[in-house]
This record gives sequence, C-alpha cells and structure tokens, in this order.
Amino acid sequence: MTNIIFEPGVDFARRMDAEDGLADFRKAFVFDEPDLIYVDGNSLGRLTCRSAARVRALVETEWGRGLIRGWNDGWFESPGRVGDKIGRLIGAGSGQVLVCDSTSVNLFKLVMAVLAMRPERNRIISDVLNFPSDLYIVQGCMRLLGGRHTLHLIPSEDGIAVDPQALLDAIDRQTALVTLSHVVFKSGFLHDMQAVTARAHEVGAMVVWDVSHSVGVVPMALDDWGVDFVVGCTYKYLNGGPGSPAFLYVRRDLQADVVSPLWGWLGQHAPFDFDLDYTPTAGITRFLVGSPPILGMLAMEAALDPLLEAGLPRIRAKSIRLTDYMVYLADTMLAPLGFTLGSPRDPARRGSHVSLRHPDGYRINRALIEEMKVIGDFRTPDNLRLGFAPLYTSFSDVWETADRIRRVAAEERHLRYPEERPAVT
Ligand SMILES: *Cc1c(COP(=O)(O)O)cnc(C)c1O
Repeated sequence: MTNIIFEPGVDFARRMDAEDGLADFRKAFVFDEPDLIYVDGNSLGRLTCRSAARVRALVETEWGRGLIRGWNDGWFESPGRVGDKIGRLIGAGSGQVLVCDSTSVNLFKLVMAVLAMRPERNRIISDVLNFPSDLYIVQGCMRLLGGRHTLHLIPSEDGIAVDPQALLDAIDRQTALVTLSHVVFKSGFLHDMQAVTARAHEVGAMVVWDVSHSVGVVPMALDDWGVDFVVGCTYKYLNGGPGSPAFLYVRRDLQADVVSPLWGWLGQHAPFDFDLDYTPTAGITRFLVGSPPILGMLAMEAALDPLLEAGLPRIRAKSIRLTDYMVYLADTMLAPLGFTLGSPRDPARRGSHVSLRHPDGYRINRALIEEMKVIGDFRTPDNLRLGFAPLYTSFSDVWETADRIRRVAAEERHLRYPEERPAVT
C-alpha cells in the first residue's frame, strides 16, 4: 500500500520526520521526558496540553467555585455532546454515540439488548483473538439468560489472524449476535467491518463491534456501513486519560426498539420527576445508568480536538507508514536476533500496533523499560507490543525503538531480569 522504499539507518527516519505533515501535532502533547520513547499509546495515550489545561480550569473554577451549578452549565449534557464529537471520528451522525461507563459494561448492555431482540436464535459468534473481557461479558450474559445460547469462537491458525471466509461462513440463520474486536488487541489484526456487518444482516443477525483498538487510528463509516452497535474505549488512541469513560453507538433506527438491561435514573425520561416507575427516555440517552464521571469526561473531551483537526485520513496514512516501517526494521534488524512478526504484514489488515514475538519477550520488555527508556508492553506468551500514535509518534521514535530492542537482545541485557511477572504487564 505504501510506495515508500525504506532505507536502513537513522538518517532515513529523520528525513521522513522532516516531510511529515502531522509532525507539528507533537506540540499538542506533554513531553516531560524528552528521551523517553513511548510506544504504548494503544494502552494509555499521552496527555494532551488541552486536557491538562481543561482539568486545571475544571477543578479550580467549575467545580471549586461553581459547585453544583456545573450540572446546568454543560455537565449534564456531556455524555451526548462528547459522544457526538467521537461520532465525527467514526462516521456517526449526531445523537447516536453516548459516553458512559466502561467498555465492558457498555458491551454488557448491548449484548443483553441484542439477545432480547432475537429471542428465537441461540448462536453467538466471536473469535479466539477477541479481548478476553469481551468474552467474559458474553459468557456472563449467557449464564444470566439461562444457558440457552452457544458461543462459537472462530479459530486462528497462527494467533495473528482469523480466516475471513470462515468467519462469514459461520454466521447463519441461528445466529443472534456476532461480536468482535475491530482491531484485535494482541496482533493488531483488522477485521473487515463492512463485510461482516453485511453478512450478518443477510441472515438477520446483529453485530456489536468493539472499536477500542481502532478508534482514533482507523477510519470508520458506521452510518454508511449500516453498523448496528459499537462500544469503545477512550484512553487509548483517543488520549482520554486513565479510566476515562467509554462510549457506545446505537444506530438511530434501532434506538426505539432496544432496551437496556440496566434501568437507572439518568436513562429515565424525566429523572427529576422521581417517578417510581421506569420509562426509558427517547434516543440514545436510555443507555445512561447513573451520573457521568465529569472530570474524566471533560479531560477526554479536550483530548479529541487534535484528532478532529488532523482528520482520520491523514492519521491513517501516517499510521500505515509507521507500522510498515516497523515491520521493515523488524525484518532487517531484529529477525537475525530471533524476533518474528506477530502482526499481519498487509497494512490493510492491520491497526496501528505491531507485535514482535520472541521467546524472551517478557524479559526483553523489562530491560527496555528499565535500561533503554522504551515503554511498550508485553502480552503473553511472547508478544512485545508496540503501539504507534500518529499524532505524537515520530519515525525517529520507530527507529530508536527497533535499535534499542536490537541492543538489548544483542547484548543479552534481558538475561539479568527474573521471569516472574507483576500484576500489570
Ligand atoms: C482496552 C479494551 C477494553 C477496555 O475495557 P474497559 O472495560 O473499559 O476496561 C475493552 N475491549 C477492548 C477490545 C480493549 O482493547
């Protein structure tokens, strides 16, 4: 897809940076440790200058001085307002995206809603590459509903991809629900959202997509593709901050028919009438449960501005260059040291992170963090996962990442670290 001929050596990376039309967006982020190479933006995005300023103003003025008046001064409407802003990044018209709860909780709400809409069907389709939490949520829903559903997981031969045809073929007239990660968390494999959605609709099934690893880096056209439901996380490529609230999308024409399994007062049609019976409000707001976390919500809202200014087409173009370059460096510098590619080679089937496999992956990651000032992450059993956020990752960062990995492995620095792992890797 890229017609760039990559070259070895850091000079090439510097030349790419000089020609990079998004290079100036780096200034929109806080860089307190200039020599730190941060390639973990797919787990927790960097802090934007705007979020830092927004949180200061929010704490000192709106909360500190305005107190409860803030709810009538923009806080109360924030789940839908910020949702609409996210909608512009995923091809969703207004009134279809709501910011609330965590991704896992939103998935629970939508899975329960879909299964209630297809009571005569008992099959649920996902794949073995899906984020385990998503599969736990599905399993919990199945148990709540009395165990009458079966979960069919599409296998993966290489742990990197699933066979797209096998997936399409598995979706049949017994299928109520297909739920998948748009970009899978370990290998970065990218599903064809449009094709899977179209196949599901052919047989009357519905799809819930988890876009946690694609929102902000992979363009989507939810409205044009007729997508039913989406959940996603905002602290990865949306740079929302630790634990920032998640979002969900419900296509407009479905909203009147879907019932959330969690009936809370903010999803009620007139919460301040304090009626003793629940009547859902019109539209997407029925998926609200309780009070939104305003600090995290507004910090995240501010972080969306640079993404909206840059635009998804330019972000995706640079993302492909960055990941292609990493693959090139892995092939030329790292393969001789025992690394293999744990991600798809075809950029059309890949998100914005690249996994490298090595039997000593965990200890190599430790050495990178402790001695080399490279923060990526490790995913069991052998994946070094490197996430590239086009608004702040430079081509020189990619080169440095590869070169520092090479030094750790060539100098066997990782052998000094124990094999035991802490709670969070
Ligand atoms: C990060 C991520 C989540 C996060 O779930 P939370 O409930 O918000 O912690 C969910 N799904 C996928 C695919 C993810 O990558």
